[in-house]
Amino acid sequence: MKIMIDPGHRNNILDYGACGNGQKESYLALQISQKLKKELEKHHIICYMTRETEKQTISILERTTKTLNLKCDLFVSIHINSAANNNASGIEVLYKGEKELAESVSQAMSTSTGATNRGAKQRTDLGILNGFEKAILIECGFISNAKECKKLTETSYQENLIKAVANTIVKKYKIVIDNIDLELKDAVNKLIVKDVKINAVSWNTLEKMNLRYTEALVEKVGRAVFNTGNYADTIEKLNNIEVISNKILWTEKRFTKEAVRSLIIKVANKV
Ligand SMILES: [Zn+2]
Repeated sequence: MKIMIDPGHRNNILDYGACGNGQKESYLALQISQKLKKELEKHHIICYMTRETEKQTISILERTTKTLNLKCDLFVSIHINSAANNNASGIEVLYKGEKELAESVSQAMSTSTGATNRGAKQRTDLGILNGFEKAILIECGFISNAKECKKLTETSYQENLIKAVANTIVKKYKIVIDNIDLELKDAVNKLIVKDVKINAVSWNTLEKMNLRYTEALVEKVGRAVFNTGNYADTIEKLNNIEVISNKILWTEKRFTKEAVRSLIIKVANKV
């Protein structure tokens, strides 16, 4: 799974986002986004960011184009709210089509932080939600509320916010991932039983990932190396495989996640 995290706005005179109580939305959004990225990566989710610093200038169109080009599964935009009424507080999640996810995220963030749950709100007028189908925009709290603004700068509060977001995403997408897992897991188990050994480094990585993220492995390591053991002949016959010194190499550029997965299953069925 690939997620684009979008720290709202940028540290530019034209677009700091909301300002108040000595804080800037662009900066708080960046801090929270960076923490969210780290947390999601613990779950082996591949994360990208639309901007990594406060100086980066990036338009809304560029943000969604980047998301489309990288074929992300989800776009999560991080913002801080503001209101004329300084007492306004709490968390809300804006969405265009992702109602269920928006509701779950808002509820989870409110539960983990104790902040008011202002709920999920459908917005069809926002460019940032219109450019990519699977998107949510999280308003983490109000910069205009002195008490809430102070909390938003605290590391522990930011951690509570992002852990709730990450856990909700992991929970929601787990079902799909687990369905893929079972077949893949059976195939790899069969390869082990039949003594088709997987290169130790790759195997450890695969095992650590609970076989969920062959895609992540291929992207991060650059290649997965399968030692074909006694089955080189069988494997050599399979299409699109490069056999080098009794090892099969495949790279992310040449093989998609689906290709790698079906390859493992194909090999398992033949041994
Ligand atoms: Zn904003």
